[in-house]
Amino acid sequence: MSKELSRILNDDSLDKFNTMRISSLDGDEDEEFAFDNDDEDDDEDEDEDEDDEQAPVVLGFVEKPKHEWSLLRHLFPSKAGGTPAWLDPINLPSGKSCLCDICGEPLRFLLQAYAPLSAKESTFHRTLFVFMCPSMSCLLQDQHEQWKHHPEKGSRSIKVFRCQLSRNNEFYSIEPPENNGTDKPLGRAAPLCSWCGTWKGDKVCSNCKRARYCSKMHQTIHWSSAHKSRCRALDLMPQASNSGSTTCSDDIPKAASNVTWPEYEIVNEDESEFDIEMSNSDAYGKALPTNNEDEGDAKSWASFQKRIARAPDQVLRYSRCDTSKPLWPMLSGQPSKADIPKCSSCLGDRTFEFQILPQLLYYFDVKDDANSLDWATIVVYTCEASCDGSLAYEEEFAWVQLTPQSR
Ligand SMILES: [Zn+2]
Ligand SMILES: [Zn+2]
Ligand SMILES: [Zn+2]
Ligand SMILES: [Zn+2]
Repeated sequence: MSKELSRILNDDSLDKFNTMRISSLDGDEDEEFAFDNDDEDDDEDEDEDEDDEQAPVVLGFVEKPKHEWSLLRHLFPSKAGGTPAWLDPINLPSGKSCLCDICGEPLRFLLQAYAPLSAKESTFHRTLFVFMCPSMSCLLQDQHEQWKHHPEKGSRSIKVFRCQLSRNNEFYSIEPPENNGTDKPLGRAAPLCSWCGTWKGDKVCSNCKRARYCSKMHQTIHWSSAHKSRCRALDLMPQASNSGSTTCSDDIPKAASNVTWPEYEIVNEDESEFDIEMSNSDAYGKALPTNNEDEGDAKSWASFQKRIARAPDQVLRYSRCDTSKPLWPMLSGQPSKADIPKCSSCLGDRTFEFQILPQLLYYFDVKDDANSLDWATIVVYTCEASCDGSLAYEEEFAWVQLTPQSR
């Protein structure tokens, strides 16, 4: 780490980046958080000595945002629901990347985690974005494809994108934000879809030339639900900006629709802050049905529950170091090393970075019906080198472990 960078990292003002940056800030844990991607020696034998040496985990919890501006992109938020705060606001994912490969509908924004890495200049800012199709039958189909052991070719209903920027970039100041509502991004942002507020709006309503859409589908829905009556009114309004880009001031993305999940800020706490003894096994909802699933699953579930019970509201577990591994709810339905495809950009290994827990579905008001979206955990694997690919948003990999009920 350069002197300059480590000075910045140890600066109190770094808190303002509101970050998952769990690197050497704690001093005595420097060793484990070196992000030294060259030594892969102790990867394998870790699996044996279970709970002896657990990699530190940062937990994510959802909260209602404190201010309207709290989740804007230039404050580098971690957030769930609502619309994404795109880190690179111009070169958004496009084409098929935005769609559920199974039903063809644009994917819905699940969450984003701001997780910069101090090891490289180009990862000074780094955010991981997770999108998924709200249809449970698409997720079941997605999982069916994953089990065919050609995950890199499978159709996905869940997609992860990694975006990273160096400290000196065209979109943001090199100084940390003030976080008092006065911060502004430097540049412009690509116009977003008027309906979902999520994806790039590169299709324009041919009548008013104001409303923009990511897809024909969203244009059609918006037209029949609201735009039909507003289109003419918009047409009569003076065209403030026809530049194809929104200005900084109207940079608060708004979705016209209810096709987003409720919006939350994700705040972080070290798992070590929570009392290990506070083990309340009822805290994590209903017990696993013990009918046909084997003993291994029941055991795995019990130790999963015990660990989660330290902080039952957690929606995310973040841990990216050599010894990190996911906390699996179930013994069955875990991927082998071969199931995790190599980075499509540098062809290097992918490594576990974080997992999402089903508590998030509760905060998203997802019903507990037979066809409702459900999962035991979503595990995100990212390029170990966090390589600088040719795309602003490199696609990474998510493995979904389903609950026995939904499988
Ligand atoms: Zn779908
Ligand atoms: Zn859209
Ligand atoms: Zn229109
Ligand atoms: Zn890579």
